[in-house]
Amino acid sequence: AELEWKVQQRTIELREMNAELELRVNELLRLEQWRKELFMNISHDLKTPITLIQGYIEAISDGTIPEQQTGIFLQRIYDGIQAITVFARNLNELSLLESRQIYADMAPLRAGGLFQATAVKWAPYMELENRPFHIEEMAEDNFIVGDAHLLGRLLDNLIENALKYTAAQLPVTFRSERSGDMILFSVIDSGPGIPQEAVPYVFTSFYRVDKSRNSNTPGSGLGLAIAKEIAGMHGGSISLQVRENAGCCFTLALPLMKEPEALIRPELPPA
Ligand code: ADP
Repeated sequence: AELEWKVQQRTIELREMNAELELRVNELLRLEQWRKELFMNISHDLKTPITLIQGYIEAISDGTIPEQQTGIFLQRIYDGIQAITVFARNLNELSLLESRQIYADMAPLRAGGLFQATAVKWAPYMELENRPFHIEEMAEDNFIVGDAHLLGRLLDNLIENALKYTAAQLPVTFRSERSGDMILFSVIDSGPGIPQEAVPYVFTSFYRVDKSRNSNTPGSGLGLAIAKEIAGMHGGSISLQVRENAGCCFTLALPLMKEPEALIRPELPPA
């Protein structure tokens, strides 16, 4: 009977080990699949501009392009190189963020200061472009802890997307509001929005909603993945609400600083 019990125990153990192994193998297969897709995406995003650049250079050097049009084609070559540069920079930044190798200069910041800096930066551009730009500061000023540069880049990215993916004169709203112990910064547009089924994927690297892949909108699907990493390293989050055919609302939520009073230094006694 003892032997029988031992055999039973061993069988259970083996079964557990087997299940564990199966899990690991699946995980490895998933990683391998992810790696393959990553390389495919990277080579696709590099191949397209490189092919164009090669074509233009050949056409210029063998005289297919009339001399008076060389300027236009040189500009296109420049744009192509620019696209590759931006892509490489984004890729590098995302990998550094994901592996937590980016140095974040965390310091107490006025949330209102961050909001205003972004609003003031974009307002002249919107005016130039005839874009209604609604700045709605609804949160009372309060402190957060973060890297002003990284957070500014994140907000810029949301505003750039609102401009990139919506028609030229549609309004953009930039809003700050408080929700419990969080501050919310939202960028709201009234463009085409994003289909519900695509919403869970927009923060994944390289994901682009088909429409934008097919159109000539430049981009590589890294901006929102970078935004998500930056939000995460601040203990915050980024989310997207879409209203049917009524545009996107991207919201960055950041925790407010617990004891901002501690920052206010007592007045020095008179000497
Ligand atoms: P990129 O703009 O380089 O493609 P992002 O990561 O910033 O990459 O955005 C991912 C995708 O989400 C975009 O390709 C686009 O399809 C969609 N998207 C982002 N912002 C908006 C927006 N405001 N309106 C509509 N679609 C958007």
